[in-house]
Amino acid sequence: MQYFSLQNAQHKVSFETAVTQGLAPDRGLYFPEEIPALDPDFLKNIHQYSDQEIGTNVIRPFVGDEIPEEQLKKIVADTLHFPFPVQKVSKSTYALELFHGPTLAFKDVGARFMAGCLGYFRRNSTKPVTVLVATSGDTGGAVASGFYNVPGIQVVILYPSKKVSTLQEKQLTTLGGNVSAFEIIGTFDDCQQLVKTAFLDQELQNKRPLTSANSINVARWLPQMFYYFLAWKQMKAAHPQLVFSVPSGNFGNICAGMMAAAIGLPVEHFVAATNINDTVPRFMASGVYQPGKAAPTLSNAMDVADPSNFVRVLQLFGNSLPKLQERFSAYSFNDKDTLLTMEKVWKENHYMLDPHGAVGYLGLQEYLSAHPDVTGVFLETAHPVKFEDTAPPSLREEIHAPARVMQLYGKEKSATLLPADYTAFKKALLQ
Ligand SMILES: *Cc1c(COP(=O)(O)O)cnc(C)c1O
Repeated sequence: MQYFSLQNAQHKVSFETAVTQGLAPDRGLYFPEEIPALDPDFLKNIHQYSDQEIGTNVIRPFVGDEIPEEQLKKIVADTLHFPFPVQKVSKSTYALELFHGPTLAFKDVGARFMAGCLGYFRRNSTKPVTVLVATSGDTGGAVASGFYNVPGIQVVILYPSKKVSTLQEKQLTTLGGNVSAFEIIGTFDDCQQLVKTAFLDQELQNKRPLTSANSINVARWLPQMFYYFLAWKQMKAAHPQLVFSVPSGNFGNICAGMMAAAIGLPVEHFVAATNINDTVPRFMASGVYQPGKAAPTLSNAMDVADPSNFVRVLQLFGNSLPKLQERFSAYSFNDKDTLLTMEKVWKENHYMLDPHGAVGYLGLQEYLSAHPDVTGVFLETAHPVKFEDTAPPSLREEIHAPARVMQLYGKEKSATLLPADYTAFKKALLQ
């Protein structure tokens, strides 16, 4: 499979190049040249396949022969080694839980799959490469855990001091091994600035080659298709046609769902649910794409004003708004409704939502109110314990951390404290 740049359809590269470069040299996102069609028999018999077999079948055409079958199977098995259960919440409403992975949020799947691919592509290189990421919380933990112990790869995570939750900081700073954490006295934007400067620093790159694990990388984007197939595997017997509601920030996850539908998964409709960062809902209503400035919310992993992956969503529909509107709706919700929903769903259905899942739940209810006969699945993208600090007070004591997370609290933090200063940062990187 070849990938082309969405800035220039003539610029085509292999899967390996798309994975190692991340972004095309013209800053365009990579997009697969063809939309492969899945074997109808596979879809019909999906319940007979293991999760790992489903993952391998779905991703194979996108990888082509660039990773041998046995190796690809192993990468998928390492990626999907935890459950993805669908839980009934109320009549017509189901939750697909994506938080059973090592860092309790759905980004584990993309990060692990990308780590497997990059590890494979670098298998014969003698010089280690450093994956450099700035994080506001969730991404860093998933990348650190995904790349932990991958031979030939070192990981450096930058995070803003005192601006990530205790649990998130533990996830970033307690792994050791090939993972180092830099605690920057500054904001997330300062961290991102340091990372950007480092990528442009040729002297640094010569001494310590760098790569990014950015969320727009095709190896992080495409494996998210797995969720939708795994949900359908569990639901299909009773509900062959589903609506998916996806809490969306950078729109990678929902765009993967729409790619799953494009290659054959029967999906009735997609709902993108956003917080007040509503660039896409406004675009769907007006046809004008006008990103503002990102506003902070309780569902902070979705505080994105200009979602990178939306160009991929448009590409899937030939950049036609009317065609997109037939299969896709977008709604936005504020923090007050998010909190009220968390309380209501706990009280009425005894299901604990996190703020991101609550936004997804609200998006689904909005769609169901106009389409009462359909069945919907919303994606619960994080474990509620990750956002316990901002949960409604009445719910806090009902939120319980899984045992494997509890043991993190007892681990010693190890991080290099640095000012938001490039010279100091570069010196630390070269030590
Ligand atoms: C990253 C993230 C999202 C948003 O996903 P996108 O693919 O960026 O739209 C939603 N929920 C949680 C918990 C996340 O970490």
